[in-house]
Amino acid sequence: MSAVHDAVIVGAGPAGSSAAFYLARRGFDVLLLDKSRFPRDKTCGDGLTPRALAVLRDMGILDDLLRVGCRVSGIDMFAPRGHELTVPVPSAPGSAEYLLIVPRLILDDAIRRRALAGGAAFQEQVDVVSVEREGDGVVVRGDQLGRPVAFRARLAIVATGASLGLLRTMGIVEREPRMMLAARAYFEGMAGLSDRIQCHFDGVPLPGYGWIFPISPTAANVGTGVIPVGLAGRLRRIPPRRIFDSFIQTPLLQRILGSAQRVGPVKGYPIRIDFHQARTFADRVLLVGEAAGLANPLTGEGIDYALESGQIAAEHVSAMLASGDLSPARLAGYDRQLRQRFQRLFVMSSRLRGLYFNPPLLNRLVKAARRHAGLRSMIGNVTVGNNGLDQGLSLGTLFQVAFTP
Ligand SMILES: Cc1cc2nc3c(=O)[nH]c(=O)nc-3n(C[C@H](O)[C@H](O)[C@H](O)COP(=O)(O)OP(=O)(O)OC[C@H]3O[C@@H](n4cnc5c(N)ncnc54)[C@H](O)[C@@H]3O)c2cc1C
Repeated sequence: MSAVHDAVIVGAGPAGSSAAFYLARRGFDVLLLDKSRFPRDKTCGDGLTPRALAVLRDMGILDDLLRVGCRVSGIDMFAPRGHELTVPVPSAPGSAEYLLIVPRLILDDAIRRRALAGGAAFQEQVDVVSVEREGDGVVVRGDQLGRPVAFRARLAIVATGASLGLLRTMGIVEREPRMMLAARAYFEGMAGLSDRIQCHFDGVPLPGYGWIFPISPTAANVGTGVIPVGLAGRLRRIPPRRIFDSFIQTPLLQRILGSAQRVGPVKGYPIRIDFHQARTFADRVLLVGEAAGLANPLTGEGIDYALESGQIAAEHVSAMLASGDLSPARLAGYDRQLRQRFQRLFVMSSRLRGLYFNPPLLNRLVKAARRHAGLRSMIGNVTVGNNGLDQGLSLGTLFQVAFTP
């Protein structure tokens, strides 16, 4: 153990790498660690929302990603009773009017390399087992290819995603947080893909949905995400891969997939959606991205919030390091900033989830939205995570849904 870094960041997904980039760019000594060897895959739908694209543009890598990604202009929705709806990707001030689908194998390595170009150091294949308060900072201990390693820093940022091991050891997570259970696979040789993504509310248990996100004119990321609700849902959890298998067996999916071939395995992974109840800091430690429960409780998308929270953490940490005040009271200011940005969206979306994923209501909503532009725009904004469900649910909206024949 030698140098004392300003910050050690555990996890080089979008949250950890964006925090590393923004901190290193301000001249701080940052060490980024990950247990994987890069480039590495991450089980995901690979969809980047306008919010994610805004941070990637700010980091200076959007143009490169546009060259390799698949640009999407709209969303095709399929309600349980077969009603279909197309909504354009909504515009928001200063943000793109499209989505971009980029396989995580490419995306995460691009963000990580940007952090290194910005001045961060990186060590891979370091499986971090503890982060402990010691002396005037923290010690991060891990295992690198069978060899124990330790790193000192003034503080640590934990960006370990939905993996709970380290957070449990640190006493930050005690009970299993609320999770969406998701699975995906890649398919090649698909005919009829358009420049829109597809969201299917048929053929999956609700609340949940299936998706088709094109990664090229003939290939797509296909997946399912389901939230176990109520006691029964939590006790009788259906394995995500089984939900995926029955989704792709539905007649509609069989027609869409046609003679397409699955490439690679079906991979399942959980998504933490409990930010509104989650801890976001501990003594000399900040949590970012899904380690703080930051994935959308309705859609499961979290790359955008991971990037945004990495940026917020870096701003906060640089102010703390510059002032020399690393007290818990100062760390609590980070929590306040996150809550200001995300809390309302999480609380309201969690409360209204049952409503949104109620089959008769979904059928009505989709039918009504075919007639009312305001409803279409609300659905678009909720789907790409611009708004929480409550922000689009005016009396007028409810009236339109209720009185659609
Ligand atoms: C099937 C599926 C589909 C999804 N689809 C979408 C989508 O289309 N769009 C979207 O925006 N979001 C989607 N998400 C959510 C998105 O994948 C996550 O929200 C996002 O990856 C969170 O980023 P993160 O940086 O917090 O964590 P991660 O991307 O999970 O990165 C965590 C990193 O930490 C490392 N790590 C973990 N533990 C340790 C340790 N002990 N020591 C060292 N390193 C460690 C891991 O190797 C990993 O590299 C999906 C998720 C799933 C499961």
